[in-house]
Amino acid sequence: MRLQDKVAIITGAGRGIGQATAVKFATEGAKVVVCDLTPEWIEETVALCKETRGEAFGYVADVRDIQALKNMVDATVAKWGRVDCLVNNAGIVMDSQLKNMTEDQFDSVIEINLKGVYNCTRAVVDTMLQQQSGVILNASSIVGLYGNFGQTNYAASKFGVIGMVKTWARELGRKGIRANAVCPGFIATSILGSIPERVLRALEEKVPLGRLGKPEEIASTFAFLASDEASYINGAVIEVSGGLTI
Ligand code: NAP
Repeated sequence: MRLQDKVAIITGAGRGIGQATAVKFATEGAKVVVCDLTPEWIEETVALCKETRGEAFGYVADVRDIQALKNMVDATVAKWGRVDCLVNNAGIVMDSQLKNMTEDQFDSVIEINLKGVYNCTRAVVDTMLQQQSGVILNASSIVGLYGNFGQTNYAASKFGVIGMVKTWARELGRKGIRANAVCPGFIATSILGSIPERVLRALEEKVPLGRLGKPEEIASTFAFLASDEASYINGAVIEVSGGLTI
């Protein structure tokens, strides 16, 4: 198993891509900390991880809450002694065209998608530095590369994540810590809920593979990047979009 006994914290793991990633990591032998906001969904993911005979525990933490994140890392180290991988996956959308975007819409998305990624990484970095090893994986988006109609806030946050990843790849590489970003295209999860059905069908038409992505297809990318098979992949920005942008 590719992630045997590796300890991974996954944010936003209650549903969608994060849940699929938690289950994939558990299937590959990892010990998983399921971080999210909603206890019921956390429990569901923990149960799914345990069905694979993986080890998992849940932690309610908001990525905006620096103390809660610190407590989560302390609890992880107390239980399993280390943190091998952080998957910064939690994210939201609050779409609006620029002319209608409110300050709250802009700030909320930046606070969770950008500052939240910083907060979580800041909370684990000392542990990884002590270990002289670790992997920091981050959910960006093709929207962070190319922009998107109605997503000024989201595009800024996901572009910012790429900037932090490249900085961490430079700062932390010699300390044995790798940082990478994954840019999903359109993946069938609840985050697409606000997109009208006809727009989704039109998007599918544009994808050379002819369909939306599945959460499991992002999860397997994260699992590969977390594994020792990806030991020379650092500072990479990997698009997983079915070829949508070519
Ligand atoms: P999702 O189904 O909406 O799941 C996001 C998860 O993040 C939810 O469980 C949510 O919890 C959690 N979350 C939200 N705010 C949080 C906070 N402040 N602290 C902790 N957890 C929080 O979304 P997804 O599609 O799986 O997306 C996962 C990541 O991939 C996101 O970063 C997203 O931007 C990125 N992405 C997705 C797509 C796509 O097409 N699906 C494409 C590109 C990038 P609650 O539901 O309890 O609020």
